[in-house]
Amino acid sequence: MATVTALRLYGREQIQLDRIEPVPCQADEVRLRIAYCGICGSDIHEYLSTPIFAPASGKANPWTKVSLPVVMGHEFSGTIVEVGSKVTDLRAGQEVCVNPSLDDRHYTLPDCSRCSEGKPNICKRWATYGLNAVGGGFADEIVVKHFNCLPLPQGVSLKLGALAEPLAVAWHSIRTSNFKKGQTALVLGAGPIGLAILLLLRTWGAGKVIITEVTEQRSKQAKQFGADMVVNPLEKAKGGDGQEQDPVLEAVHSFSEDGVDVTFDATGLQSTLNTGLAAVRPGGVFFNVAIHEKPLLLNLNDVFILEKKILGGICYTREDFEQVLKAMASGEIPFEDMITAVVPLSDVVSGGFRELMNNKAKHVKILIQPGNGA
Ligand SMILES: [Zn+2]
Repeated sequence: MATVTALRLYGREQIQLDRIEPVPCQADEVRLRIAYCGICGSDIHEYLSTPIFAPASGKANPWTKVSLPVVMGHEFSGTIVEVGSKVTDLRAGQEVCVNPSLDDRHYTLPDCSRCSEGKPNICKRWATYGLNAVGGGFADEIVVKHFNCLPLPQGVSLKLGALAEPLAVAWHSIRTSNFKKGQTALVLGAGPIGLAILLLLRTWGAGKVIITEVTEQRSKQAKQFGADMVVNPLEKAKGGDGQEQDPVLEAVHSFSEDGVDVTFDATGLQSTLNTGLAAVRPGGVFFNVAIHEKPLLLNLNDVFILEKKILGGICYTREDFEQVLKAMASGEIPFEDMITAVVPLSDVVSGGFRELMNNKAKHVKILIQPGNGA
């Protein structure tokens, strides 16, 4: 069998394209020829910093037994090229996107309490293809469990399919924040997740949506993606009393004295926590969807006196993917505008990772395309 080209993480700031042996396709698995795989902010984080998800050097993931080097990439779509002998719900030639999460089912263990209540994303044995399990999306192919695959509905291309994962993160955040139709939102940061939340809030029938962003390019994107207001939090405004005002709070209070129903923090700074929590109405929700570099200071009197709620959410469940695919199939929202570059796998390091690090504001989502000049 021919070897597989795959991008592997060896440790801090060490990634390279390798030729590796294909893995066998077990009875309950399918083999995909990968079409597209998006680069995620967490891929950059795992590459540049001390890994949060990838196994530490010399250590194996306790559940998947995988150790470095690991194949990266967890936002992918592809075409099924081989079907395990016991798989009945999928067939060769089908186009699918993948929920890359692993849970008890992957280790043939009985469901834990979290998995039983439909929350495998917080299973203590959670892992993910592309960071700490066998195989990832920055490769010619991958073998995954059949129940990780979601067939792409009519009208959803393989390119759009690769966006299902980041959009599922956004969908999960909106869903678990208990956001209701007609409510107002503040989104902190117009990066890929902030913009994905903005796009999907339209699907949810949101009232006003304000988004904050410091770069001009991303502010423009946020406007194009339908934000009612885009505010630069660094542009201090003078209030009526001559005092400097927080421009984000000014904007929020310009249409609602009480504040927004939900703040989504996709930035994760002390300043975004302060502003985001202050912008929430009494009884409203501050929802964290950012990875934090360090602990922050928090005055819990906001939670106590004003009954504001602080929630967070990780990843997604299959339900979130299904809802995102439905939204994509409706064709109402131009999700493809999130794609700012398509780069062949052979150029993943410089054209993908380095490009994203050096020109962050220029990009929402860079898709890597295996099998194209690789
Ligand atoms: Zn579990």
